[in-house]
Amino acid sequence: MNENNDTPRKVLILGSGPAGLTAALYAARADLSPLILEGSQPGGQLTITTDVENYPGFTDGIMGPELIDKMRLQAQRFGAEVRFETVVEVDFSSRPFKVRTDRDVAYASETLIISTGATAKQIGLESEQHLMGYGVSACATCDGFFFRDKELVVVGGGDTAIEEALFLTKFATKVTIVHRRDELRASKIMQERAFANDKIEFAWNSEVREVLGTRESGVEGVILSDVASGEERTFPCNGFFVAIGHRPNTELFDGKLETDDVGYLRVKHPSTKTNIEGVFAAGDVMDPVYRQAVTAAGTGCQAAIDAERWLEAHQEE
Ligand code: NAP
Repeated sequence: MNENNDTPRKVLILGSGPAGLTAALYAARADLSPLILEGSQPGGQLTITTDVENYPGFTDGIMGPELIDKMRLQAQRFGAEVRFETVVEVDFSSRPFKVRTDRDVAYASETLIISTGATAKQIGLESEQHLMGYGVSACATCDGFFFRDKELVVVGGGDTAIEEALFLTKFATKVTIVHRRDELRASKIMQERAFANDKIEFAWNSEVREVLGTRESGVEGVILSDVASGEERTFPCNGFFVAIGHRPNTELFDGKLETDDVGYLRVKHPSTKTNIEGVFAAGDVMDPVYRQAVTAAGTGCQAAIDAERWLEAHQEE
């Protein structure tokens, strides 16, 4: 292993979405020289989204990747250091805490801010897994371009599903949103946009039982079942987008940090403190309720302030 022989860092941030980058900005401005280990998806989920219209300050909206670039540059301007490494192991047993990355580099830090975000969920079908990348996708902005003049299915009823469906109408001739209930969970403004879009149709009270096709042919359809009657029907389509929410990225901390039943890190409200002294959590990894870019940034700010105060209180130890 490459030992990093520096004296322990004061603040080490795991994850580089709006939470991690805002934590870095605040920690850098507090002269704590934070290091961000970006993780496997630098910038987090905003980098696979399109227009962000609800981040305050951008009157005409801003593209997700651009917003992230601005946040990163802003943090770096004040001395935050960013490395493209993913943490694979954390030792919370003594302070300074120790982490090891996928590049086999070890770091030690007096505090940790965990902002590892969340990952898109899958339905869990064998066919969905088999055809992932062959017509099945969880990212319209990444793959939508490949579906010009095709008919597509998006599964889900939240903001993500509507956003993906709206984006896909730029390429597809028709997008059918398959939802397991008869009303959407998405915000009103997104619902209105979907209902007003001629290319978007709905298959209500329906669940996807199977994705049809082969890796050679791509997706050819889905089998839908009616949630009330169980009746099944084949629904032809050329692409299948899964947008059914997210799960927090906390596997690395299993059995070490307290989580709720779903896996979100528990914090001691109104702070960002976890059950381990000196370890703080921010963003989607600890927020089962709001999960917005702006709330993630807000908790990132809180975590940096909590870490700064914690360091002040423990500087003699
Ligand atoms: P979400 O709000 O949790 O919605 C997930 C949707 O998928 C729900 O409609 C749910 O159905 C459905 N679903 C869950 N598991 C399923 C399964 N196994 N099979 C079929 N359907 C399933 O997740 P999200 O849409 O990813 O949004 C997450 C958060 O990000 C929200 O707070 C949202 O407001 C925010 N967000 C905001 C924007 C924006 O403001 N532009 C864009 C994207 C996301 P039920 O409704 O029946 O539970």
